[in-house]
Amino acid sequence: MADVETVDRTKARKVQVANLSPAEHGRGFARLPARLMSELGLSEGDVIEIVGSKTTAARALRPYDEDEGIDIIRLDGLQRANAGVGSGDYVEVRKGQSTAATRVVFAPAAPNMRLEGSSAALQRSFAGRPLTEGDVVATTGHQRVNADMPDHIRQLLNAPAFALQELKLIVVSTAPKGIVHIDAKTQVELLSEYKEPDQADRRADVTYDDLGGMRGTIDALREMVELPLRHPELFQRLGVDPPKGVLLHGPPGTGKTRLARAVANESAARFFHIAGPEVMGSAYGESEKRLRELFEEAAKAAPSIIFIDEIDSIAPKRGQVTGEAEKRLVAQLLTLMDGLEPRQNLVVIAATNRPEAIDEALRRPGRFDREIVVGVPDEPGRREILGIHTRGMPLDGGVSLEDLSRRTYGFVGADLAALVREAALEAVRRIMPELDLSEQTIPTEILDRLSVNGSDFENALKR
Ligand code: ADP
Repeated sequence: MADVETVDRTKARKVQVANLSPAEHGRGFARLPARLMSELGLSEGDVIEIVGSKTTAARALRPYDEDEGIDIIRLDGLQRANAGVGSGDYVEVRKGQSTAATRVVFAPAAPNMRLEGSSAALQRSFAGRPLTEGDVVATTGHQRVNADMPDHIRQLLNAPAFALQELKLIVVSTAPKGIVHIDAKTQVELLSEYKEPDQADRRADVTYDDLGGMRGTIDALREMVELPLRHPELFQRLGVDPPKGVLLHGPPGTGKTRLARAVANESAARFFHIAGPEVMGSAYGESEKRLRELFEEAAKAAPSIIFIDEIDSIAPKRGQVTGEAEKRLVAQLLTLMDGLEPRQNLVVIAATNRPEAIDEALRRPGRFDREIVVGVPDEPGRREILGIHTRGMPLDGGVSLEDLSRRTYGFVGADLAALVREAALEAVRRIMPELDLSEQTIPTEILDRLSVNGSDFENALKR
């Protein structure tokens, strides 16, 4: 343990957390002011220990130019989750010591995922990155798709065998404990099954880093929802009631659901999802009962966010509906909203693309009295969204995301995600003839050569 002594662990500083640019997400570094770096005896690239309600590690990098002189540390969404903090919280930062691990075990951080690829690929992907047990980390992955399709049918349909995308993995265990890194001698293991992150934890599956072209919207929602959920005492002290309901409106596929989930994760709140059309039950009174039960459950689990998707389907204007069931459901929702205590730490976020179609009573004060428009992204927004969805994807030099963002006028986030997915499948189709699909795993040499090129995107655009 000789080299541990070279680290002065007494030098630590409390510093406020801000967000790293989403384009830099998942690479394992944090940005902090030059002055703070020298105070802590750090050079660029050194390992730092970051302590919030949990401990994680990163490598230190210079700040953005505009940050020089401001005392903040910029972390990505994964690191914020791994340190158990949200942006605006404080963490303790000190110089860290990373040990070469003898063994690291990973598992997929999301369910229903079959991974292709070897531990050798993980070894390369994480080389040098500081890791601690429990961290959720990102890497490029090859995920098996259409696995249950017989080979001859797959060939007939030209259906790809695997997909390329960013994967989130959880570091299940490390030996030794503490901050470690992977080197050529580390034994790396990938468990096949999903490891459910601790429910009480802030989840890293979706964070603000995963939303492009909506910085203003995120800021507005943070102020209305995240701040009151995380600091209810602030609002009590000021004697103002935080909003109980926020209405998001915008066309389908613009990221409303993803946004609500990200706010829940970043606020360390439980997330309850109601799909409007699915609530409508058949038996008398069943839908109201379901709604009541969900509100009760969410109140018990507070801080919570209830997200009601397509609220127009469960709360249409009462004057315009003929069915008694719809009228009762609107009335039930109104009663539940009115019954929410301001101190309950529960916020209802509803989404619709037809705000004019919902019952006016829902938009009165104390109900959904805040509205946020989630619009179709502009060109820089589309560029940001393309950047997010190609994260971790090997792109050929000929691919210009700028050019693609210019040529996709009118595309919403969901369209851009589909475009990228389709381009990646085109790339996989190109190498399919080289593959022996009866083999259990695809040779690393082939995976390594695989990248998505300009014509893959051209073909995808034509589809
Ligand atoms: P909505 O709820 O508005 O219909 P979703 O949140 O369900 O839209 O978006 C569907 C998918 O489209 C998301 O899972 C994501 O892949 C992609 N997407 C939509 N908007 C964005 C965005 N602003 N940034 C990144 N991805 C987006």
